[in-house]
Amino acid sequence: MIAENIRSIAEKIARSCEKIGKPSGTVQLICVTKTASIPQIEEVLSAGYSAIGENRIQDALIKYDALGDRATWHLIGHLQTNKVKDAVKIFSLIHSVDSIRLAREIDKESKKIGKRQDILIQVNVSGEETKFGITPSSAFECIDAIRSLTSINVVGLMTIVPEVADAETVRPFFKALRELRDAINTKQILPHELRILSMGMTNDFEVAIEEGSNMVRIGRAVFQP
Ligand SMILES: *Cc1c(COP(=O)(O)O)cnc(C)c1O
Repeated sequence: MIAENIRSIAEKIARSCEKIGKPSGTVQLICVTKTASIPQIEEVLSAGYSAIGENRIQDALIKYDALGDRATWHLIGHLQTNKVKDAVKIFSLIHSVDSIRLAREIDKESKKIGKRQDILIQVNVSGEETKFGITPSSAFECIDAIRSLTSINVVGLMTIVPEVADAETVRPFFKALRELRDAINTKQILPHELRILSMGMTNDFEVAIEEGSNMVRIGRAVFQP
């Protein structure tokens, strides 16, 4: 079932890419396993997909103990500063950096273990109060403040949009994140370009890809019968 679900998602990703004239291999699928068991994650790995997204450090540590480096681990949920030490040990990409303070803590802890931690800045483009993330207008200042930190590497932006019945409703938010990324690149605040746009989930990933997403985080469509 899981392998079939993933095949169907991969087809949809390919179709969305085709629609905008982009090679389908350029969009990465992150399988979100917050509700999945270790055997279910094994099925994902057997299907040839190894990027795993987790929301909570405790859950991720247990799954990491079982699966280790057979998967690459993505932290997609809110990160508290007191959990950073554990986070930098296992995650190849932290999607949810939403403050300068958190970025500094990640820099400090990754330095201790001789790592350069890839991160995304989480931006709240919808303005919904319940969502974490910095405001779009503070993104320039935030990136400017952390660019001197040598043990983190900002590689892109991430957003979580409101859940709606019709994905077209959230298209403007995806577009806004892409435009923000492009503006940051144009202003050359960093010595390198921000490449990754982590946006799109089960309900809206096709629209997200049409608006430039190259990393979709999908849970339900992978694991639901
Ligand atoms: C749960 C979750 C997802 C996956 O959502 P689905 O609707 O199950 O695809 C993606 N991103 C984040 C941050 C999540 O918490």
